Amino acid sequence: MSTYHPLTIDEAVSLARSIPGHFPADAKLACKEIGDGNLNLVFHITDQSGSDKSIIIKQALPYAKVVGESWPLSLDRARIEREALQLQYSLCPGLVPEVYAFDDHLAITVMEDLSDHVIMRKGLIEGVSYPLFAGHIGEFLARTLFYTSDLAMGPQDKKEQVKKFINPDLCKITEDLIFEDPYKLSDNNNYPAYLEDEARDLRENAALHLEVALLREAFLTRTEALLHGDLHTGSIFATPESTKVIDPEFAYYGPMGFDIGAIIANLLLNYAAQPGWTKDEAARRDTEQRLLQTVSDIWQEFEARFRKLWNEEARDPMSGAPGYQDVYIAKVLRDTAGFAGCKIIRRIVGLSHVADIDTIEDEQIRETAQRKALAIGKLLVLNHRSIQTGNDIVRLAKQAS
Ligand code: ADP
Ligand code: MG
Ligand code: MG
Ligand code: MG
Repeated sequence: MSTYHPLTIDEAVSLARSIPGHFPADAKLACKEIGDGNLNLVFHITDQSGSDKSIIIKQALPYAKVVGESWPLSLDRARIEREALQLQYSLCPGLVPEVYAFDDHLAITVMEDLSDHVIMRKGLIEGVSYPLFAGHIGEFLARTLFYTSDLAMGPQDKKEQVKKFINPDLCKITEDLIFEDPYKLSDNNNYPAYLEDEARDLRENAALHLEVALLREAFLTRTEALLHGDLHTGSIFATPESTKVIDPEFAYYGPMGFDIGAIIANLLLNYAAQPGWTKDEAARRDTEQRLLQTVSDIWQEFEARFRKLWNEEARDPMSGAPGYQDVYIAKVLRDTAGFAGCKIIRRIVGLSHVADIDTIEDEQIRETAQRKALAIGKLLVLNHRSIQTGNDIVRLAKQAS
């Protein structure tokens, strides 16, 4: 048993060498730390002697760096991330990296190297289109959310699962940064002075506060399914043919719409940012249309698969009650829209932003994108309880333009 300490490069290499059946005995291993170093270390280990084998070791750090300070974080999240990855891999083997080994004392997971994919946020900023993405992520969402819910599991087994995925430290980050800080004065908030009018509205808008309170309550209390918990486009490795979901360290049992909303929010942030990235007007309109189409496709792909799983695999004795499936799915859709809105808002005024918006060089264009994103976010939150179809989300996004 090893006591916890952050691995050195040499230790990461020895550890990689000790994984049975992976690298040849005479491999010349090279190692680079490629994480952003905020919460975790990520070691990329490659064989320089031509075997083309490689491996990733992710190690949790016991703190997060937040506005220059240190925010303590339980190392148990590495175990949660690893167990979530293994469960997701068992349900969706083509859509999640394989875990090769782990050490919970060292808070490390050794996994498949996905360096032949590109982080989707980067791809989207570069204008890459992902025609298979909606189907892939719809599959990931439908299978992971359905099979971990009471619909598919007996209530006793499900409660055992809920216990394994109690994740208070990471949930607190979400609770503070998404459902609290943007709506009050907080040192965690982070926005340019020219957005003070918007920030003030977020602090004072009583109708918005009611809807955020309801969404926060759902996040705090509803153990519907095992969520990924941080499903933004930076947690997705993609190529036009392939999609891989990484980084489920925020996994916990919560409302299904939180994951679906997260991915939709990040596509809508990229949509709002398009004037900063696609200069030709016709091309920009095409890209915007494609992104909105992907948003509506994601909901459709999820819904069709989820209904099929329900019809064919549900074990809940009441799952056949007439009308139950429709009511359930309508709730998931309303939550999806509301959480998408919350996630958009926090990426503009909260602590952590997205490169799609923040790296737009022209300040005027950037400001317009920020205001457009906030308008979309607010419309989604304010109207989430009356959303009835996936296209309603797209309609609200267009209305904000
Ligand atoms: P964090 O939780 O710190 O955000 P991530 O799991 O998102 O950590 O990983 C951070 C970065 O490390 C990713 O953006 C990616 O560049 C790289 N990375 C993580 N996992 C892999 C992997 N399986 N294959 C290749 N690169 C990876
Ligand atoms: Mg990171
Ligand atoms: Mg990440
Ligand atoms: Mg992470």
